[in-house]
Amino acid sequence: VSFLAYTKESIHLLDLPTYQSYLQEDRFTSAKIVGREILLKSDEGSYSILLDGVDLKKLLAHVPISMQEENLFLPDLVNFVLVLFFILGLLLFTKKDEEKKVEPKREKSNALAPHNPNFKRSYKAVNSSVKFSDVAGIESVKEELYEIVDFLKNPNKYKSFGIKLPRGVLLIGPPGVGKTLIAKAVAGEANVPFFYQSGASFVQIYVGMGAKRVRELFTIAKAQAPSIIFIDEIDALGRSRVGSHNDERDATLNQLLTEMDGFEESNNVMVIAATNQLDVLDDALLRSGRFDRRLFISLPNIQEREDILKVYLLDKTHDVHYHDIAKMTVGFSGAALATLVNEAAIHALNSDATKITKEDFLAVKEKVLLGKKSLLSYSEDERKIQAIYQASKALAAHWYEIDFDKISMIGSHFKEVDREIESRSQMLSKIKLYLSGMIATNLFYDETFSNAREDLSKAKRLSQEMVEEYGMGEGIFATTMDASEILEEAIEDTQGFLFKMKDAIEVISQELLEKETVSKKRLREMIDEFL
Ligand code: ADP
Repeated sequence: VSFLAYTKESIHLLDLPTYQSYLQEDRFTSAKIVGREILLKSDEGSYSILLDGVDLKKLLAHVPISMQEENLFLPDLVNFVLVLFFILGLLLFTKKDEEKKVEPKREKSNALAPHNPNFKRSYKAVNSSVKFSDVAGIESVKEELYEIVDFLKNPNKYKSFGIKLPRGVLLIGPPGVGKTLIAKAVAGEANVPFFYQSGASFVQIYVGMGAKRVRELFTIAKAQAPSIIFIDEIDALGRSRVGSHNDERDATLNQLLTEMDGFEESNNVMVIAATNQLDVLDDALLRSGRFDRRLFISLPNIQEREDILKVYLLDKTHDVHYHDIAKMTVGFSGAALATLVNEAAIHALNSDATKITKEDFLAVKEKVLLGKKSLLSYSEDERKIQAIYQASKALAAHWYEIDFDKISMIGSHFKEVDREIESRSQMLSKIKLYLSGMIATNLFYDETFSNAREDLSKAKRLSQEMVEEYGMGEGIFATTMDASEILEEAIEDTQGFLFKMKDAIEVISQELLEKETVSKKRLREMIDEFL
């Protein structure tokens, strides 16, 4: 494998949560896309992660990304210095003839720059190889976009019939549902250059800079027409202008509108923009002749999830029924499903299995859902603290009769029974459950830890509701003391209970450390053994 030769050192396969925590800590010093993988470097070593599921925009905010280059033997540093000189040269060169027509600049490397107003951006098109068949589900959106593809391929056919096609297509939907992917597929199917730009990257600190960038981008795209400009998160620049005022953003938006209005018949530049919400967009963007075509993409339904899973499991050895996995992934976006498959594959690999099974999916599902919180990023000490925390919650749930399936190192799924009428003591039990982890770690370590944050705020919220909404405090009208008195009451009770159960907590936490989850049934067995 070529990149092995290139780095001459071992490469660790990263899973997504670890990758994300490293990213948060800004550990990576470089990133390079090699085929379907990203090769990452930090001061400690080299890592690789599958391209699927990685949010390149986020990565780019931390570290420059480059593509695999021809010259594999040139060390990174030399490359970097070369690129730096080249960019400096460009800067000096373009300062002189600012007024001249902007030409697509061909940089030697594809190094992209992080957001930096002083950085001279080059708008480089990619030749997308994504096809409609790579996009699973969203059939109706595909159908609508076929027309655009056909138009880009045979513009004369449409012109001879006097048919006008929209200048812009707006894709509306939550993150990760494939808006970027489908836009790339349009470019891939029509075989035209694809210019990617995020809305935020247009909006600059200096007034006029953003407008200039829009102008540059359109100039280059027109020069390479037919082409596609994709503007991701267009709300960053196209947010409704009512109320707030931002000269730079207004100027940028106006320039975009001017460019789109100025399209002549012969300009086969299609603008595709994406946003999460339609209602925040400036009316001007939605006016006729701009983003006339609006396509809504929602989270995939069960059938669509099945189709997406098929795409990602196609080249992997497994024995799962797509339908089973689709059934357990309600609320997952396409991107989350891609990550899930990837994580399940890593899980199977780590347990020396020959194929991916449903168990692998079950094991990683929670991790993918929670995203950032990863057990793998915990140190040994942190794992112990967390195990004590969760073990005592399991025990408290059992004791205070709050139903749950299982409790794991990173989460717990209590059945929030929606009772129409809930008693004060039932609510108090919930508060005790929320507080039990914090109280137990306090008992064991004589210290309070930050992992209690979420539970603590739940406890506080519920105690407030109890006194303010249900009159469960001292009197009907809540006083500031009431909520904290409820919390005190809960703490005192739970402390007493957990103190007596110290040994049991230890045993359960051991089990959690080993197996990472404890089911309700297993918990009961352990408690029976104990008492
Ligand atoms: P968005 O632009 O809507 O935030 P993306 O297009 O960036 O989402 O999707 C991120 C990744 O998720 C894609 O690169 C792809 O790997 C996966 N994905 C999302 N939706 C689909 C889909 N319908 N079919 C196949 N893959 C998908």
